[in-house]
Amino acid sequence: RPRIFSGMQPTSDSLHLGNYLGALTNWVSLQDDYDALYCVVDLHALTVATDPALLRDRTRSTAAQYLAAGVDPARSILFVQSHVAEHAELAWVLSCHTGFGEAGRMTQFKDKSARHGSDGTSVGLFTYPLLMAADILLYDTNLVPVGEDQRQHLELSRNVAQRLNARFGPGTAVVPEPHIVKATAKIYDLQDPTAKMSKSAASPNGIIELRDDPKVVAKRIRSAVTDAGREIRFDPEGKPGVSNLLTIFAALTGRSIEALEGEYAGRGYGDLKKDLAEVVVDFLAPFQTRVSGYLEDPATLDDLLADGAERARALARETLERVYDRLGLLPAR
Ligand code: ATP
Ligand code: MG
Repeated sequence: RPRIFSGMQPTSDSLHLGNYLGALTNWVSLQDDYDALYCVVDLHALTVATDPALLRDRTRSTAAQYLAAGVDPARSILFVQSHVAEHAELAWVLSCHTGFGEAGRMTQFKDKSARHGSDGTSVGLFTYPLLMAADILLYDTNLVPVGEDQRQHLELSRNVAQRLNARFGPGTAVVPEPHIVKATAKIYDLQDPTAKMSKSAASPNGIIELRDDPKVVAKRIRSAVTDAGREIRFDPEGKPGVSNLLTIFAALTGRSIEALEGEYAGRGYGDLKKDLAEVVVDFLAPFQTRVSGYLEDPATLDDLLADGAERARALARETLERVYDRLGLLPAR
């Protein structure tokens, strides 16, 4: 069966609705037809300064949210990136086969480094896409379900894989394909509907966090920025705020945008927001109960992650040995 890999950074206590609708729901549905590996990419999170105890908590919390969303450890491999040393090892190899200029063209690096200044920006943030390429290539991954913001990083992973195949022979690396579902590929910030909803956003007010107090969530939806005029119509260019709310509404209820436009024809933004707040809160309540269940028993969660790491390591070792051999590194006896 074809292979899937994807991951999220434990850079916050909670994932947000963009992570959930843009990636996590697709992870869950793809488990049926693919061999999937879902990873908490804690090494990536080191690019953001975090208190060590907090990072540990967030790593467990992220894994618990994968499980609560429906990632099934009986079918998919669920693990923590730092438990499989091969990720960092392959990243080094890939960094030696990537141009400095090529890496410098990554827009996420440009955006994030512009925000933090040159001294606040680590070399790790610059090489981040190569660690991500290593995550993917390490498992001979065919398909990578991510949000739109990761398209360029995926393209870099593909280029590096193709380069290895050209330099060291076909079959050195599998060239991955992105899996980006257009309707929900980019969920926007509620306060700034031209910016993507992000864990690292400057203000929390535009983010819907899956682990937030439902009262706070409802309030944030009711105070979402809407657009000039009063018509409830899906028009991402002219009406980005309302369109974002319609996207979220449709994705969480399984209803079509057209049906929602029909239902809200002639009604006000206030009605839409009030109803959406209810939909989101109804979704969050059982989700949060499941997350708490997993976090109440960290020993069981850690066992599950250890089991996942063991399965991932076996696959990773095989790929890394193949790549090392192709590159001419002397096998250890
Ligand atoms: P950060 O701001 O720290 O980079 P993030 O919110 O982008 O955090 P990541 O852990 O980097 O979260 O991304 C995890 C997954 O969620 C990726 O597949 C990414 O494409 C997807 N994703 C992130 N934000 C959104 C969004 N607003 N809409 C859709 N998908 C998203
Ligand atoms: Mg991100």
